[in-house]
Amino acid sequence: MRFETLLVHAGVEPDPTTGAIMTPVYLTSTYVQDGVGRPRQGYEYSRTKNPTRTALEASIAALEGGAYALAFASGMAAIDTVMRLLPPGSHVVVGNDVYGGTYRLFERVYRPYGLEFTYVDTTQPEQVAQALREETRMIWLETPTNPLLRVTDIQAIARLAHNHPARPWVAVDNTFATPYLQRPLELGADIVVHSTTKYLGGHSDVVGGAVVVQDPDLHERLAFLQNAVGAVPGPMDCFLVLRGIKTLAVRMDRHSANAQAVAEFLARHPKVKRVHYPFLPTHPQYEVARRQMKAGGGMVSFEVESPEEAIRVAESTKIFALAESLGGVESLIEVPAAMTHASTAGSTLEVPATLVRLSVGIEHADDLIADLEQALG
Ligand SMILES: *Cc1c(COP(=O)(O)O)cnc(C)c1O
Repeated sequence: MRFETLLVHAGVEPDPTTGAIMTPVYLTSTYVQDGVGRPRQGYEYSRTKNPTRTALEASIAALEGGAYALAFASGMAAIDTVMRLLPPGSHVVVGNDVYGGTYRLFERVYRPYGLEFTYVDTTQPEQVAQALREETRMIWLETPTNPLLRVTDIQAIARLAHNHPARPWVAVDNTFATPYLQRPLELGADIVVHSTTKYLGGHSDVVGGAVVVQDPDLHERLAFLQNAVGAVPGPMDCFLVLRGIKTLAVRMDRHSANAQAVAEFLARHPKVKRVHYPFLPTHPQYEVARRQMKAGGGMVSFEVESPEEAIRVAESTKIFALAESLGGVESLIEVPAAMTHASTAGSTLEVPATLVRLSVGIEHADDLIADLEQALG
């Protein structure tokens, strides 16, 4: 099946007893067993396994071209579970423009537990090569990054990791691109993570996460952690993400077309100093983006004259709502330095205070451009 067909059908089938076409929401904590130690189809207890979650996990695995997926209560819970693979003393090479919550987890939770992190510009593979050590167990990438939309060549980093004697895992946070625009496992990554809160859910009505892998051993270790730690999503949350996934391709086409139009408008505007969008020819990694991604995605950021101007613009839009998060059908605007990325102030991950970030929704592009024009004016 092609990708658009997988979106609608992978992992789901009509309910065998009623024919209900939508996956039932199995609101149950436990399951009646046929005999002592004889659960039906492995369903014993819903922290371990729930049929609505099973359907979601099969769907996400198929979309990423992976053999296995595991669903979590949030993107952060998914990332946390991946980090628990690493014994104390492990070293991790991380992109220097990662999601603020990822940086906080690494620095405030895992550094005190004995993991070491080195932050480098992963758009420059030689910087990653130089940071690798004997005890490097993982390379953590985000591409495109949040909020500067920098693009890393996943294939180049995977090749580098696979040829290094330490053989670190390459983990890619694919939240911004989604598997419709970019499939990291096909490019050599070992682990893909998602905040399903964003484009996979797509309607700003659920918080969730996922991890996808190819290797059965890695899956076994992660499934053990998923059950042992227990940061699992409830069945209703799984249902909402599953429902969102069905329209991912049509939404991403519109998000990308709108974002491209908005980016081109901003690039022409005299009050805008710089626009960050992977599919603008002026983007520093334009060639890599064109090779690795199907379209530019829905996120755009731009720089204005001053921090005060950034705040004024973000407070002046009428259609773009002033809010954190991203990936929903409605357009959002925010100032990262004061909102989503406030926790990176004073660190190597600090973002310019003049930066404005847009999550471009699926409204009509002309209305979105008119809204930005009046806000900039
Ligand atoms: C939102 C986000 C996360 C965290 O996910 P939650 O669902 O909010 O826990 C991780 N990575 C990226 C790129 C994100 O945008």
